[in-house]
Amino acid sequence: MDWDEFAVWGEKISQWAADYHKTLRDRPVRAQTALGDIAAQLPDSPPEAGEAMDAIIGDFERIVMPGMTHWQHPRFFAYFPANAAPPSMLAEMLVTTIAAQCMLWQTSPAATEMEGIMVDWLRQAMGLPEQMTGVIQDSASSATLSAILTMRERATGYSGNREGLAGKGNLRIYCSDQVHSSIDRACWVAGIGQDNLVKLPTSGPRHSIDADALRAAIQADRAAGHSPAGIIAITGGTGIGACDVLGPVLKVAEDEDLYTHLDAAWAGAAMICPVFRADFWADVEGFDSIVFNPHKWLGAQFDCSVQFLKDATPQLNTLKIEPEYLKTTGAEVTNYSEWTIPLGRRFRALKLWFLIRAYGLEGLRMRLRNHVTWASEVCEAIRSMDGFDIVTEPIFSLFSFRCPGDDAMQQALVDALNDDGRIYVTQGSFGGQKIIRFQVGQFETTREDVMMAVDVIADVYRRIS
Ligand SMILES: *Cc1c(COP(=O)(O)O)cnc(C)c1O
Repeated sequence: MDWDEFAVWGEKISQWAADYHKTLRDRPVRAQTALGDIAAQLPDSPPEAGEAMDAIIGDFERIVMPGMTHWQHPRFFAYFPANAAPPSMLAEMLVTTIAAQCMLWQTSPAATEMEGIMVDWLRQAMGLPEQMTGVIQDSASSATLSAILTMRERATGYSGNREGLAGKGNLRIYCSDQVHSSIDRACWVAGIGQDNLVKLPTSGPRHSIDADALRAAIQADRAAGHSPAGIIAITGGTGIGACDVLGPVLKVAEDEDLYTHLDAAWAGAAMICPVFRADFWADVEGFDSIVFNPHKWLGAQFDCSVQFLKDATPQLNTLKIEPEYLKTTGAEVTNYSEWTIPLGRRFRALKLWFLIRAYGLEGLRMRLRNHVTWASEVCEAIRSMDGFDIVTEPIFSLFSFRCPGDDAMQQALVDALNDDGRIYVTQGSFGGQKIIRFQVGQFETTREDVMMAVDVIADVYRRIS
């Protein structure tokens, strides 16, 4: 393909992108294909001769598109959002075009310097202390793994990387039973082990960890000869939006000299709104590490996960490695690949720059506040439906409910709703029961889209009951 042909297709694809987004409401949110439908239409083996781009793009429309679930659909109420606001998509097109590998300052100074400034813009927007720095990672899972490895190294006097973990006893990590599975997996791969991840029960309106129980668990572990290494708190757990009360957790960490990490992957975005910041993030400045995903609720196209660090030194002592071929000469520079596990890195800061400039913080805040308001309105409407119960009250823009009937009926309603296609929801569990989760957060959703869910739920429930 030459660049003139590229330009022709590039223009066509831009037009296609705009048309796609303008007609999203007419498509079923979740793909309506059966298992194997797409694979059956793809050739078993690669072509020997090159094919024309119009044939390839024609097949993309014909074969691939029916098998896509539309995450940018305004009636996507499942999981958490993975928003891609249009200015962030444009930035990604530019990043893809230049295709720089931004592992070191010198491999693209603009990417490194922009990253530092964007992390600082977000730090200010979220009211975090001036000395906090940070890095943009691909995912919260990677940021959490970095933090847990740091806990491990700090607790072993930075000897784990060198010597391995044999003979180092049981390193222990503490959290509530509402944490995301990425915390479990980070403990697996960090060599800490699932059995050394201590999950404590939650209580109260926001399903928070009990700091006294946390302290007691740590002290009992010390008495048993284990080595406490760190505490993980959450703001906005994935299941039902659980939020820990931060101050008491930090007090325990301070008394016990433990490293702390806060998982705010989803709800961190809301902290740019002073009303939520004041309500949920008192004392947050005490955390050693905080992760939040601008690629979820905020609107920066996937992938983009910001990890803030009170002091980057412990993480650098854990992850930095500098073979000769990565050494740079001249002035002291920041090489962000030393802060993370992967060496290679995309230019992720550009889409934040485009996003924040195009909407301004106030444009982004307005969406988040609207989502929270609409979530509470739709929650009240479902509460008033005959036989329907709200199981967990809205925390930010997430709540859960049950229709009349047993667990099988809840799953039947979820499946029927998603087969219907006008909305998309997913199930969860709480208190030993199946629940139907509902979150509002798609970037272009309107109050009308959100309230339409009430009629769809009533309609589909009537049909299957
Ligand atoms: C989505 C989510 C994660 C995982 O995020 P990735 O970026 O996909 O790794 C972790 N924690 C919470 C609370 C989440 O909502």
